[in-house]
Amino acid sequence: MYAAKIGLPYINLVGYPIAPDVLTIIPEEIATRHQVIPYMRVGGLVRIATTRPIQPETKQVLERLHSKEVKELTVTLCSKSSFMYGVNLYQALPKIERASGTVNVTEEKEHEFTLEMGDLGQLKRKLQSASTTNVLDFLFAGAVLMKATDIHLDPSEKDIRVRFRIDGVLAEIVSLDKAGQKAVDSRIKFLAKMRLDKGTGPQDGRFGVAVQGSELDIRASALPTSFGDAFVLRLLSGDIKELSLQQLGMRPDAIKIIEEAISKPQGIIFNTGPTGSGKTTTLYAILKKLNVPERKIITLEDPIEYRIEGVEQVQVSAEKHLTFSDGLRAILRQDPDIVMVGEVRDPETAKTAMQAAMTGHLVLTTLHTNNAPAALPRLVEMGVDPFLLTGTINLIIAQRLVRKICTQCGGKGCKVCRGTGFSGRVAIVEVLKPTPEFEDLVTQKAPLSRIIELARKQGMMTMEEDGMEKVKAGVTTKEEIWRVTKT
Ligand SMILES: [Zn+2]
Repeated sequence: MYAAKIGLPYINLVGYPIAPDVLTIIPEEIATRHQVIPYMRVGGLVRIATTRPIQPETKQVLERLHSKEVKELTVTLCSKSSFMYGVNLYQALPKIERASGTVNVTEEKEHEFTLEMGDLGQLKRKLQSASTTNVLDFLFAGAVLMKATDIHLDPSEKDIRVRFRIDGVLAEIVSLDKAGQKAVDSRIKFLAKMRLDKGTGPQDGRFGVAVQGSELDIRASALPTSFGDAFVLRLLSGDIKELSLQQLGMRPDAIKIIEEAISKPQGIIFNTGPTGSGKTTTLYAILKKLNVPERKIITLEDPIEYRIEGVEQVQVSAEKHLTFSDGLRAILRQDPDIVMVGEVRDPETAKTAMQAAMTGHLVLTTLHTNNAPAALPRLVEMGVDPFLLTGTINLIIAQRLVRKICTQCGGKGCKVCRGTGFSGRVAIVEVLKPTPEFEDLVTQKAPLSRIIELARKQGMMTMEEDGMEKVKAGVTTKEEIWRVTKT
C-alpha cells in the first residue's frame, strides 16, 4: 500500500537470487547504513531495493552510483525483512575488499616477501604454506618482483601447476594443493566479475591489484577443463614512464627510419610479428613520442595495455558489439590526427585503416605476419588494392624480443636470473619502406622469397642479421635468435 501511495514498484527479496557481482555494486557498509540493496542488473540498468525510498540521503547514495557500468537506476520499495535477507548475502561473498574488487598486497607482506624470497625455492615454500587468501597475494607480489607478464594456473588431477611467464618463457613456480582449488577459483572469478556457477564456458574479466604502491591491471581468462578452470592472469603494468624505442634496444639506424615514417602527417605504419613479439609495446613507444596537445590521438585496443595521458583510448568489446572495424569508423568521425588500431585482422578493418591513412590521418597498427615483406601479400589477400600499398604505407616494421644474457653472471646462471643465464629482453627489428617495385611483384603474385630478395637488395637488414650483430656484441645468444625467428 505504501509503495502504491508513493508511486514505486514493490519487491519481495526473500529467496531472490541476487548475483554476487550485482551485490558488489554497493559496498556492504553503505548498503547497511542506508538500507539499499542492488538486486538485479541488465546491461547498464540496475535495480535497487530500499526501505527508505524518499529520504534525501538515499537519493544522494544512488546519485553517486552512476558510472560507466551503472547507467540507469530503478528504485523499488522493499520491506525490512527483504532488506535483512539481502544484506545477509554479503556474508557469502569472499572475505576480501568486496566493493572495489582490488586486492591490496599489504606492505607488511611485501616486506616479508622481499626479505625472504631471494630465490624460487623460497617463493615455492611460501606459496605452499600460505592460506588461500594469501596465495593470490603472494602470486601477484611474486610475479611483480620477478617481472613476470603472466601467471598460469593449470589444474590437473592431483594439483594446480603454477607457472610465470618471464622474459617470454614459462617458468615452473610451484604446485599448489588441490584442496585450495575451489577457494582460489572463486576468488579469481569474484575479483574478475566472472560467473561463479558451473557449466559456464570460457570467461574473461579484469581487476586491479595494488602492489608496491602502484596499481596493476590484471586481465583474467578462465578456460574450463576436466579438472576445473585453468586461469591465465595477464599483468598489464600500465607504466610507460621509461618507454622509448631506445629503451627497447632498437638499432639507431632502425630508430631513424621509424622516426622519419612517424613524422609524416598521414599514411600507415604496420608493426608485424606473432603474439608476444612486443609489437604493441613499440607502438606505445611511438604514440608516447607523438603525444603532444596539438594532436588528437585516439586508440582502439584489445586490451588497453598501458594508459597514456592525453590519448583517448577505446576498448574493443565483443559484448558491446564494438569490433575493430566499427570502432575505427566511429573514431574517424571524431576528427583525430593519429589513430592506433590494436590489430588488423579482417578485410573490413584493413580497408578502413588504409582509407584513413589516405585521407589525412597517421595510422599505427599491427599485423600478424612472420616478417616485414610478408605484410604486402597479406594485405592484398585481405582485399587491399596492390597499387595502394606503396603510396599509403609509410613503413612496415617486424620485430621479435630476445632474452639478454644476464649481466650478473655472464650467462652461467645465478640467483638474479634464476639459473637461466638470461635477464631482460631486447628487440631485434627489420624495417621496410615499400617502393613501387614491390607493387609489381605483389600484383604478379610473386612468391614471398622474391619480395624478401627485393627488400634485401634495397638495403633492409633482416631481424636475423640484427640478431647476429647482437650475438657478436655479446648481448644475446645464437640459440635465442633461432628460437624467436623460427616462429
Ligand atoms: Zn645470472
